Amino acid sequence: MALANWAGNVTFTPDRLVSPTSVDELCGVVASASRVRALGTGHSFSAVADSADVLVSVAGLPRVVDVDPAAATARVSAGLRWGEIAPDLQASGLAVHTLGSLPHISVAGSVATGTHGSGDRNGCLATAVTALELVSVGGERRTVRRGDEGFDGSVVALGALGVVTHVTLALVPSYDVDQTVLEDLPLDAALEHLDTVLGSAMSVSLFTTWRGRGFEQVWIKHRVGDPDVDLSWTGATRADGPRHPVPGADPVHCTTQGGVVGAWFERVPHFRLDFTPSSGAELQTEYLVPREHGAAALRAVDAVRDLVAPVLQVSEIRSVAADGLWLSPAYGRDSLAIHFTWVADTARVLPVVAAVEDSLAPFDPRPHWGKVFATDPARVAESYPRMDDARRLLLEHDPDGVLRNDFVDRHLLIAP
Ligand SMILES: Cc1cc2nc3c(=O)[nH]c(=O)nc-3n(C[C@H](O)[C@H](O)[C@H](O)COP(=O)(O)OP(=O)(O)OC[C@H]3O[C@@H](n4cnc5c(N)ncnc54)[C@H](O)[C@@H]3O)c2cc1C
Repeated sequence: MALANWAGNVTFTPDRLVSPTSVDELCGVVASASRVRALGTGHSFSAVADSADVLVSVAGLPRVVDVDPAAATARVSAGLRWGEIAPDLQASGLAVHTLGSLPHISVAGSVATGTHGSGDRNGCLATAVTALELVSVGGERRTVRRGDEGFDGSVVALGALGVVTHVTLALVPSYDVDQTVLEDLPLDAALEHLDTVLGSAMSVSLFTTWRGRGFEQVWIKHRVGDPDVDLSWTGATRADGPRHPVPGADPVHCTTQGGVVGAWFERVPHFRLDFTPSSGAELQTEYLVPREHGAAALRAVDAVRDLVAPVLQVSEIRSVAADGLWLSPAYGRDSLAIHFTWVADTARVLPVVAAVEDSLAPFDPRPHWGKVFATDPARVAESYPRMDDARRLLLEHDPDGVLRNDFVDRHLLIAP
């Protein structure tokens, strides 16, 4: 059968898609499949989720959101979307330390690829995970906990260690955020003072179409209680109404701006759960470079803006804190994430992706696993100091590759 991702531009070709309603049923599915992969909400733009035999969704498993306020943790069903668990966490006075730009993605799917939001002190979503319950080769149930051997290679694992059924998350006390959009931050001011700009609030995103000489929008998510940082000296000015990061798109899809205080889960994502995120018709690409090379990497993209701009809807620049998860694109380095929302035209976009990769090559870019990239897998592998350990872990648990696909084998340099 042929199935498409959320944007309709990646085709999966499993023999069948199944959605078990109990973990026992899921164990039977995994035990009997020749190849099995999990599909989350299908928001990836790479073939990372594809399967040659069975694709399995855990969205049909019973809903579990067990919050332990004393321990500040929650055990949740892996197929739930962040926006679906957030109100329960909030009701217990708890929160996730970060969120991606959209609350529509599943917990397991976003954790598996190292999905991140922005913030100098915010690790990716996977850094909140303290335990994973999964169904592994042969339908065997397994739990991996923080501190266990191999845990750091099991969280961002591209779905290749088994089908995750439940995730336990470490939470923080609930917090409020006000979101303000600034406009027209000059490029030179931004690059000369990148640390100051990105460090001005808990989460900062810079948006540019690479058509003018600056960032048309700066989204500042300020945590109530943190100091207010004034960026007016850069020349940026406060937007006079709500904005959408994609030029011409309706801001009704976006979370509340204008400095109005709200709960973390209603401000940290850019897009509202009940509306379409981003533009809907698009391809995406993103590279994480070491933070110290951030300004130089942006200058390198600036040098190819004439190629980028004609096929781009918008670029977003964010910061991500270093983590210790072996396959996380932010492994071992505070990072600058340079993202591109392209037009939905693969033939026109791919040559530009290659040009961007050439320009970023001196900065050791790590592509987002869930987005479009063309980097030579050997270069990707070289960029991850614990790649050998990650490969060993996958082979140890699944020597025959029942849980892997071509994408995983190619990028982890596992011979077919
Ligand atoms: C509009 C839009 C905005 C985005 N914004 C951001 C952003 O702000 N930051 C960012 O970093 N990325 C962003 N992304 C990318 C997106 O977050 C990632 O691609 C993410 O992995 C998607 O999650 P998903 O649930 O759709 O997973 P899928 O795309 O369905 O799957 C991704 C991977 O997770 C695995 N997986 C899924 N479920 C399970 C499970 N139960 N057990 C084991 N493995 C599983 C799959 O096998 C696959 O390898 C965005 C994408 C879109 C379309």
